[in-house]
Amino acid sequence: MIELWGEAIRSIEPMVKPAHRDLWLRPITCVGICDGRIQLRAPDRYHKEWFEDNFLPSILRDLEVRANRSFTVDFEVSAERAVGLSTDTTMNARAQAATHPGQAHATSVQLAAAAPSVPLPARVPPELVSRYTFENFVVGPTNQFAHAAARMVADAPASRWNPLFIYGGVGLGKTHLLQAIGHELHRAHPEWVITSITCERFVTDFIGSMMGQKRGVVTMDHFRARYRKTPDVLLVDDVQFLSNKDSSQDEFFHTFEALHRDHKQIVLTSDKLPAELPGVEDRLRSRFTWGLIAEVETPDLETRIAIIKRKAEADGVTLPDDAISYMAANIKSNVRELEGALLRLAARASFQNQPITLELTKDALHKLISMAPSGLTIEAIQREVAVYFDVKLHDLKGPKRHRAIAHPRMIAMFLCRKLTPMSYPEIGSRFGGKDHSTVISAVRKIEGLCGSDPSIRSVVSTIESHLRQP
Ligand code: ADP
Ligand code: MG
Repeated sequence: MIELWGEAIRSIEPMVKPAHRDLWLRPITCVGICDGRIQLRAPDRYHKEWFEDNFLPSILRDLEVRANRSFTVDFEVSAERAVGLSTDTTMNARAQAATHPGQAHATSVQLAAAAPSVPLPARVPPELVSRYTFENFVVGPTNQFAHAAARMVADAPASRWNPLFIYGGVGLGKTHLLQAIGHELHRAHPEWVITSITCERFVTDFIGSMMGQKRGVVTMDHFRARYRKTPDVLLVDDVQFLSNKDSSQDEFFHTFEALHRDHKQIVLTSDKLPAELPGVEDRLRSRFTWGLIAEVETPDLETRIAIIKRKAEADGVTLPDDAISYMAANIKSNVRELEGALLRLAARASFQNQPITLELTKDALHKLISMAPSGLTIEAIQREVAVYFDVKLHDLKGPKRHRAIAHPRMIAMFLCRKLTPMSYPEIGSRFGGKDHSTVISAVRKIEGLCGSDPSIRSVVSTIESHLRQP
């Protein structure tokens, strides 16, 4: 009978997005089918609800056709069971059961048989990456405040700073801090439902549920229960994804309101300040500023050195000090690049079966460094231009159009295009959400002026030389 289940699953798999398949479908196992009762197991109630909302109706239809009879379904939620196995064993067993549906029954039976009565600590929410913890976060002057804010919220959720809004450029640790809060709260309150999602997932779920409702397979009540009622904490990564998505924004607004009203902690990350989020309604932007706003900035040299050391140690890579200094001095823009460089270096050393030396480091990273000769970020360029022209950074990124601001802004955009690998839309978005066509025309204008006006040429090259100084 259980094979029937496997067949029904396989029949719907091609219609499910691969990401959803791994995240939502595979973790559900069938323990047995007896007398028209299907016994299913889900890792938590989240998976159960999602499965019931999105997959169960079509699977049941398929099964009923295959078996020519009707079925009822019993669900068991693993996180609610008290089994004395380590989390890893349970998860491995579940993974095996998921990849070999035919063995699902045997695995589950073994699990049940081996179950003494010591309660299992609640499983870490599957969305949380295990290494994104506070312990693994290196604190320096450019992320100190955001780190302290995150700690504060994790220590006393929903007491004062709600929401916490973490913002900053790519690869600077926003997701890491967001998830560290999740880990910490899970540790302190294992019974809490910690909902950690990307904003993109929220939007996809929302659209999926709306479509499901139209087809009559699900109702929005399930979606709303999942986001407005179930979470004790809601962590949403990259809320800039809401830009220009009106109905999702509306849903997000009501989700926010419901959780905030119930004194549930909300943590958000974004690549921009609330005020600079383009295409986001005012009422949402204003709510984003209700709590605490904390910025993460590009790490300074010492922090970069500390991060490389920490990562190398964690990965079991041995690096001499001169290689560490070389990396830290040359790869400046963000932590993700730093990690990528270390990975590339370690791979090269292992491939050539050589210890890591400064020479090998230079050789391995040559391409990375020459691709981003400046290692400069948009923020660094904006800061330098603001200092040079004595204008406020805020104005440089803002909407003011008079020449005293617009001219430095165009030079800053030109330098961003010249000295960083960022695209026109990316640059526009970092200047307070300007359109890419604005950036293109600024770049053309300054290019033209550099050709025709020696004083502009000299201003641009002076700023550029300041920026290139180590
Ligand atoms: P963002 O969300 O800001 O784009 P992430 O949080 O994904 O950036 O960080 C990118 C990578 O850099 C991750 O692997 C993260 O662990 C690491 N990272 C960022 N900041 C730090 C830090 N201060 N200490 C240790 N690792 C960091
Ligand atoms: Mg991120």
